[in-house]
Amino acid sequence: MQKFTCTSCSYVYNPFVWEENILPGTSFENLDESWVCPHCGDDKDVFIETPQNIQEISGSTYTDEEVCHIPFYKEQWGVLMVQVGTTDNPHEIEENHFIEYVGVFDGDGEILEIQIQPEDTTLVFENPWIDDYEVRLSCNIHGIWRGIRIKDTLQ
Ligand SMILES: [Zn+2]
Ligand SMILES: [Zn+2]
Repeated sequence: MQKFTCTSCSYVYNPFVWEENILPGTSFENLDESWVCPHCGDDKDVFIETPQNIQEISGSTYTDEEVCHIPFYKEQWGVLMVQVGTTDNPHEIEENHFIEYVGVFDGDGEILEIQIQPEDTTLVFENPWIDDYEVRLSCNIHGIWRGIRIKDTLQ
């Protein structure tokens, strides 16, 4: 059963961990709509599926479908700049196919900052100022993609 993470406080709902008033084994989907995060009290809809299987990109050249899912990032001007895909090959934003989130995670997979359903392909995050972090993108159809750090200017 899937775990879900609160994007406000990083609390993880694990169906197999005992929670007050909730039967162990209750899937996130089956939680009452009035259920709130036990840590920060935020609504159920701020939760996202906890990243599990991350797409691994094979080889050093990318197909068009791969490129449009990759969050390319670099630290610049004290912030973390992220560009989804390239100018020539951005990810489409459609009703049935869209980016669920782009987020910055620390080495333990905890959310440092996340942007839900971004409308833009160029995003600005706070610079995490740590070496051990990861940028990830989740597409509702194609799954989770790991970011690639770039040295040069964003295209
Ligand atoms: Zn929370
Ligand atoms: Zn996609």
